Amino acid sequence: MVNLGRPRVVNLDRRSLVSLNRREVVNFIGVCTSAGITAGIDMSLALIDEIRGEKYTKAAMLDLEYDPQPPVKGGSDKNTDAAIVDVMRSMYDEGMEKVLHPEIAFRNLKFDNTKDLYCGMPLTAGVGDTANYKGKLYGFCSKECKEEFEKNPAAYLAKQ
Ligand SMILES: [Zn+2]
Repeated sequence: MVNLGRPRVVNLDRRSLVSLNRREVVNFIGVCTSAGITAGIDMSLALIDEIRGEKYTKAAMLDLEYDPQPPVKGGSDKNTDAAIVDVMRSMYDEGMEKVLHPEIAFRNLKFDNTKDLYCGMPLTAGVGDTANYKGKLYGFCSKECKEEFEKNPAAYLAKQ
């Protein structure tokens, strides 16, 4: 990278940012500003592109459905590499599965308890939340039970 001495303050409008090449963007790191919403998105995408690479940038653009005049081609299913579209869909499918079906969210975890330490419900009936305490992982039927446990973990552990 070219050493420019002290950082420069550069205001970028949309047109000037789109015309920058990667090295110019790197050289602007230090103080980089933009004016306008899309210019800010473009600037952020240019920085993501420089730091994480084009595939990561395309994934971010697809996530935003950002396709007005982006720094790299993408932003919609039809303009994005099929592999990136598949990765993003898989990521959301996996993430949403836990939201849509909380009963399976913790299915692959091993707990140090077999019953909810607050209400006594067996964990085989379903785990709604977890807590870490002194290096152990405890399952609870709900967020509310976990929160009650966390008020005084030692007392609830002594009762079991
Ligand atoms: Zn409970």
